Order: sequence, then C-alpha cells, then structure tokens
Amino acid sequence: MLQFKNTNFKGKKVVMRVDFNVPLDENFEVTDDTRIVGAIPTITKILHDGGSVVLMSHLGRPKDGPEDRFSLKHITRVLQQYFPNNNLYFASDCISKEAFLMSSNLEPGEILLLENLRFYKEEEKGDVAFAEELSKHGEIYINDAFGTAHREHASTATIARFFDTDHKGFGLLMAAEVENAQKLLNHPDHPVTAIVGGAKVSDKILLLEQLIDNMDNILIGGGMAYTFIKALGGKVGNSLVQEDYLNLALKIIDKAKDCNTSLYLPIDNIVADRFAADANTQEVDCYNIPDGWMGLDIGPQTVNKYSKIIKSSKTILWNGPMGVFEYEKFAWGTFAVAEALAEATDNGAFSLIGGGDSASAINKSGLEDRVSFVSTGGGAMLEFLEGKVLPGIRAIEE
Ligand code: AMP
Repeated sequence: MLQFKNTNFKGKKVVMRVDFNVPLDENFEVTDDTRIVGAIPTITKILHDGGSVVLMSHLGRPKDGPEDRFSLKHITRVLQQYFPNNNLYFASDCISKEAFLMSSNLEPGEILLLENLRFYKEEEKGDVAFAEELSKHGEIYINDAFGTAHREHASTATIARFFDTDHKGFGLLMAAEVENAQKLLNHPDHPVTAIVGGAKVSDKILLLEQLIDNMDNILIGGGMAYTFIKALGGKVGNSLVQEDYLNLALKIIDKAKDCNTSLYLPIDNIVADRFAADANTQEVDCYNIPDGWMGLDIGPQTVNKYSKIIKSSKTILWNGPMGVFEYEKFAWGTFAVAEALAEATDNGAFSLIGGGDSASAINKSGLEDRVSFVSTGGGAMLEFLEGKVLPGIRAIEE
C-alpha cells in the first residue's frame, strides 16, 4: 500500500474517492461543508506536489439515473472557494467520453470533479466493468472517503483491484479516521463512555450491542430512547417507537447488565404536541408522556446526569443527536451534551464525534474545535468500532 505522506505526486494523475455527500438546502446551497473540508488536506498535498486530481463522489440517493437535485455541480462553488488558485472542472457524467477527455487533458495543479457516481446503478452494485472505467481516470487510486468505506461499491472497493499495491492508498482523512478510531478501541483511558442518539433504534441497535463490550457507560438519547422506554413499560405517547425492536431493546439492557456496562436512558424530556418547529411544548417524565404528545429532546435532569458522566470520562464517543436539534426548541439537550464533551476534552479527555448528524450538531454548536476528532463517517465509524473490517479499507490493504 502506498504511504500517502511519503509519496511525491509530481506529474501524477490521481483518481480519488472523496465523500462529498453534503447536505443541501432547497436552493442547493451546501449547509454543512465538513466533508468537503475533510478532504482538503489530501487534495492540497497532491496539487502542491505538482500532481492533478480527479475527484469522484456520490451525493444523496438518486433512484433512477441523473436528477438535478443530486448533481455534484451544486458543490463546485464551495470547492472552488477552498482552491481559489487552481482550475476546477466539472464533468457532467463520470464515465462519458467527455469526462475521459477532461481527465486526460488535466494539467498539474488542476482538479476535475466527476458527476454523482450513483447516477449509475453499477456504483452501488460494485460493478467490475464500471469500476474499471473509473480506474482509467488516473494512474494512482486514493481513497479518502471514510464515510463510505463500509460500502462495497465500485468506487470504494472494486476499483482498487485495477491498481497494484504501490499505486493505491488512503488519503490523510481516511488515515486520521482509522487512527482515531483505534485510539478508542485499543487501550483507551477509562472510564469510556458512548453517547448514542438519533432517530431510529434499528439503525443502531446492532452497533450498540457491540459497544457494550467496550464501554463503561452508554448514554442513550434521541428518538431511539423511546423504544427502550416503551419496552420497559413506559408510556411514550406519540414518540418514535419501533415496535419490532421492543424485545431486542430488552436484550440490550440485559446484555449491558451482564457486561457490567452502565446503560442510561433519559429520565425526563421535552415533549411536543406536533413534530414542528413551533409546536407547543412541555417538560415531562419520559415514562409518563401524555397521550398525543411526543418526546423531541432530553430534559434538564437527563442533561445534568449525562453531563456529569461525560465530564468524569477519559474517553468519549458520540454518535447521534439527543433530540430534533434541527428545530431550535429541541436543540438544547444536544448542545448541552456537546458542551459537556468540550469541557471533558478541555480537561484532558479524548473525544471522538462519530459523524453524521452529531458532526453537524457539534458544528452548529460552534464547539468543533474543542473536541478531539470529528469523524466524517457515522455508519462507517461505528462499524469500524464494532471490529468489522470495512470493504474500503480491505480493498486497499489486500
Ligand atoms: P441519526 O441519523 O440516526 O443520527 O438520526 C438523526 C436524526 O434523529 C435527526 O434528524 C434528529 O432530528 C432525529 N431525532 C433525534 N431525536 C429525535 C426524537 N426524539 N424524535 C424523532 N426524531 C429524532
């Protein structure tokens, strides 16, 4: 495997998988450019060495071919702002004749961004012929898309077989992600605490199961908490509950007891009469939510308790917001947890923000510089923490 830092890219054309799957608003403006920023050091090093770079990514989940709202052209303006002195070209199809003409004409110091890979179904299928086409855009393959490293797609895994060992490697972001995750896994300072939130328990229950083995404390928040609370006999009103997961939730609670991991659920919460930014709200106990109301944020007693645990931890992982932080009325719990994390880090703890929505929450709170590492990959990071070998990593290491 090529060691990125020790490689001189002078005169080389690099085809690089990045994760530019950024959120866009209704005017197609990038609302959080964390993932773009994450790839900048790798791109910069290649360009500074005197190489050129062909960037490829997916954006969103297009179902059936090209769709304007999922076009990567929307992010070119933001990308150009970070490279004001470099020519940036955009190819409106990732494997068209025109795209190959553009990549073959690319000069040192120039950037070519390819259109959304997922406009081709072959991408997610890991199609060999499609991967081979993509591989023709460069003589070196660099994967810096940690966010999709857990997917066995054409551009994240299959493509690697078209490059020999010395011509493929991880970018700086990918290497940093792996290094930081390993810090959490390998001999972390105790106590180790995981804060797990977000909408659906189904997305995280298996991951939780794995975390139980490694953590001293697990703090649960967000919509997923209500499946646990209902399973324990709580009255949760209209809160988000996945009925199919009630038994599994109880099993998780039991497993935590068996492993001596303290698993905490919210005590109180802010409930709303509708899922809306201007809903009426009240503060109630999580186990007695009135009919017709739904829990959309953790309450002050929970924040107090969680903050104390976080501040007394030496290693902390955070994945998933504590509430619907997109609405101001339900953002307080998430931001309070972020503040506790920042204080713990100020006092010497190692804190890892496990990507996705918690990354945008930490950015929104303005505390991103006071935590140790903000991962760009939610699912990828947690799968890595489970001990799984990610296809995007395996493809390069093999
Ligand atoms: P995830 O991607 O699984 O981390 O989920 C993040 C989403 O969970 C955010 O969009 C939040 O608005 C949402 N969320 C957090 N808490 C709740 C809640 N109590 N009820 C419904 N959705 C929630």
